[in-house]
Amino acid sequence: MTRAQNASNPAKLTPHLGLKHRNTFGLDAVAELAYEIHSPEQIPAVMSEIAEQKLAWRVLGGGSNVILPSALPGATLLIDILGQEILSSDEEAAYLSVGAGVPWHELVAWTLENNMPGLENLALIPGTVGAAPIQNIGAYGVEIGEYIDRIEAFDVKDHAFVTLPKEACRFAYRDSYFKQNPGRFIVTKVVFKLPKAWQARIDYADLAKQFPANANASPGPEDIFLAVCKIRTHKLPDPKVIGNAGSFFQNPVIPNEQYETLLKSYADLVSYPDLPGKRKLAAGWLIDQCGFKGQRMGAVGVYENQALVLVNHGGGTAEDILGLAKCIRDKVHDKFGVTLQIEPNFF
Ligand code: FAD
Ligand code: NAP
Repeated sequence: MTRAQNASNPAKLTPHLGLKHRNTFGLDAVAELAYEIHSPEQIPAVMSEIAEQKLAWRVLGGGSNVILPSALPGATLLIDILGQEILSSDEEAAYLSVGAGVPWHELVAWTLENNMPGLENLALIPGTVGAAPIQNIGAYGVEIGEYIDRIEAFDVKDHAFVTLPKEACRFAYRDSYFKQNPGRFIVTKVVFKLPKAWQARIDYADLAKQFPANANASPGPEDIFLAVCKIRTHKLPDPKVIGNAGSFFQNPVIPNEQYETLLKSYADLVSYPDLPGKRKLAAGWLIDQCGFKGQRMGAVGVYENQALVLVNHGGGTAEDILGLAKCIRDKVHDKFGVTLQIEPNFF
C-alpha cells in the first residue's frame, strides 16, 4: 500500500479514469491515475507519492479552461474541496472562505442570496472557485482579483501549506502569480472580501442595453446577475450541448503606434483603451475578419455566433483543436501582424 493510500483520510485513487465529462470541450481523455481531493489534508501524502514515483502530474478543476490530450500519464488531481463560510461581516465588508472545488456560479448565486453583492458580473462562468484566481477570471469589466483577500494553497516546491495575500497573487489581465508559476501551487481555499459599498458596473454595451437610461429605477445586483445570465445564455454555446472552453484566444494588447497603423487600413477595427500607451483589440473581430466565423474543420470549428469560441462538434481531439487554432493564428498574423495567445491550458 502506498503512502497516499495509507493516510488517515486518503484521497480516493482511480486508475484509468475517463474525463470526457470533466472537460467542457468534451474531449475523450483518460487519466492514468486520478486522485479525488476532498480536503486539503489529503494533498501532502499524494504529492509525496508523486515525488517518490517521479510521476508527471497536473491539477484539474471543472475542466472548462483546458485542452486535454487523449492520455494523461501519471497523476491527475481532481480538486473537489467543498464548503463555504462567512468568516466575518461588518459595515465595511464581508469575508468569505470558500473551498477550491465549489462551483463558481453557485458561489455567485449564494453571495447574492445572502445579500453580499459584487460578483454578479461574473455569473455563469463555468468552473471552480480554486481555478478562478489562476487566470484572474473576468467578464463585463470585473475581475475576480478585485474581490480576493487571500489564497490558501499547497506550495509543491516547499511541500507546505501557504497563505498568499492578494498583493502576492500579482493579478493582471487574465493572469496571476499562479499562472506564471505553473505546477507550484495547488489552491485549496479562496478568501473573498466583498465590500458593503456597492455600485452597478454596466459599461459593456451588451449589458448597458439591458438597462435603458430612461428606466425608473437603476439596476440592483440581482438585475445585473439575471441580465448577465440572459446575455451569456444567448451568446455562448452551452458546453453540455456543444463542447467548448469559452474564449479560445486572449484579446491582444498592442502598443498605441501599432494600433494607429492598423486603424489606417481598418477603420472599423474594434478596440478599447488599456494601460497607458496600449490598446486592447477584440480578438473575436480579428478572427471574424479572416472569415473563420461558423467555419468547420472536420469535427471542430469556430462558433457561429462568436468567432472567439472554438467548438468540438463531437469526436474532435486536442490535435484537431490545436490544428484549427494554428490556422487561425497564422491567418490573423498574416493579415494584421498580431499574434494571438491561446487562453486554455494544454496539459
Ligand atoms: P480547469 O479548466 O480545470 O483548469 C484551468 C487551469 O487552472 C489549469 O491549468 C488547472 O491546472 C488550474 N487549476 C484548476 N484548479 C486549480 C487549483 N485548485 N489549484 C491550482 N490550479 C488549478 N473565463 C473567464 O475569465 N471569463 C469568462 O467570462 C469565461 N467564460 C467562459 C464561458 C464558457 C462557456 C467556458 C466553457 C469557459 C469560460 N471561461 C471564462 C473559462 C473558464 O471557465 C475559467 O477559466 C474557469 O476559471 C476555469 O475553471 P475550471 O475549474 O474549469 O478550471
Ligand atoms: P463583447 O461584449 O462582445 O466584447 C468583445 C470584446 O471587447 C470582449 O472580449 C471585451 O474584452 C471587449 N470589450 C467590450 N466592451 C468593452 C469595454 N466597455 N471596455 C473594455 N473592453 C470591452 O464580449 P463577449 O464575448 O460577449 O464576452 C462578454 C464578457 O465575458 C467579456 O468580458 C469576456 O471577456 C467575458 N467572456 C470570457 C470568456 C473566456 O473564456 N475568457 C468567455 C466568454 C465571455 P474583455 O474580454 O477584456 O472583457
